[in-house]
Amino acid sequence: MNATLTIHLSHLTHNYHYLRSKIDPKVKMLAVVKALAYGSDATAIALHLEEIGADYLGVAYAAEGVQLRKAGVKIPILVLHPQPENFELCTQFNLEPSLYSKRVLEYFIEHIRNKKNVDFPVHLKFNSGLNRLGFHINDFDYLVKTITNSPLIIKGLFSHLAASEDLNEKDFTIQQIEKFDSFNQKLIEKTGISPILHQSNTSGILNFPEAHFDMVRTGIGLYGFGNDAKYDHNLKPIASLTATISQIHVVKTGESLGYNRGYKAQSTIKTATVTIGHADGIDRIYGHGKGYLIINDKKAYILGIVCMDMLMVDVTDIDCQEGEEAIVFNENYPAHELAEAVGTISYELITGIGPRVKRLIK
Ligand SMILES: *Cc1c(COP(=O)(O)O)cnc(C)c1O
Repeated sequence: MNATLTIHLSHLTHNYHYLRSKIDPKVKMLAVVKALAYGSDATAIALHLEEIGADYLGVAYAAEGVQLRKAGVKIPILVLHPQPENFELCTQFNLEPSLYSKRVLEYFIEHIRNKKNVDFPVHLKFNSGLNRLGFHINDFDYLVKTITNSPLIIKGLFSHLAASEDLNEKDFTIQQIEKFDSFNQKLIEKTGISPILHQSNTSGILNFPEAHFDMVRTGIGLYGFGNDAKYDHNLKPIASLTATISQIHVVKTGESLGYNRGYKAQSTIKTATVTIGHADGIDRIYGHGKGYLIINDKKAYILGIVCMDMLMVDVTDIDCQEGEEAIVFNENYPAHELAEAVGTISYELITGIGPRVKRLIK
């Protein structure tokens, strides 16, 4: 069998309810389904989340939202990082843009005025310290002036936490929350708007109840990762990635394995060639003994260089046959552990799973 990503919707439901249990019932939940729902299947995930009661969806770019609308998603969709050339798609498909700079705000107002001058819902983004996207506190007077009498409905005011998973940075996070809160209060008082306030990502939900405001935005938690061992056991990774052993070799002392002779046998070993490679998201960094697959409940370390379509693992001490399954990650062998073995995080491993990997919805 080719590499397959099996997606368990019942795990998604479990994670959704666990995260819900961490917020006040009045607080809305925006489910982040950007990047193919973190490498899984955006449409299947979004439709399921809508069915189980998510209030909002979030995508990074407008085209991702268009795909969801075409699949029949009805709930509001926030586009976190729109570009002016996407504004037509936003208005046409009813996607609420995040306006994060003077440039995009002015382009959007112009777009609406040129169109039909019908008020359109948007979310204004405030930079509380991540320094990635958002208006600065110094833009306050500009914002008051620009949004007053504009064809915009300020449906949301939001900000993003930089280090909510890192309790060594707790003071910094508290400062971000306070800055956001005071910005909101001032802007609401000055303009009379009544926006949905939102700042927390998954780790904000889990670690900072004071940052929940009116809505939270959760991505990684829905997919089963809590960014912390103390939360991981309450969440279930929704996806299992499996591949197949296509051939077994005996490699003798002094022989080499793979491209550029990346591995040289110091003793006679048994190796398995598996149907997944760097084109499928197992990058070369996983090679040279750093990464591993699970075969018959044992770690089989990746030897030498990861190829485009396959890789080779050490199965000297593992009882296995050609045609049997190799697990990359699943509920019991979570992606974050494999990712951490090569110095990265779950987010990078799961969002990198290539389009050739078959998605199987369960
Ligand atoms: C991706 C993203 C999220 C989701 O973050 P998680 O850590 O996956 O919960 C929330 N808000 C913004 C602005 C994002 O870009």
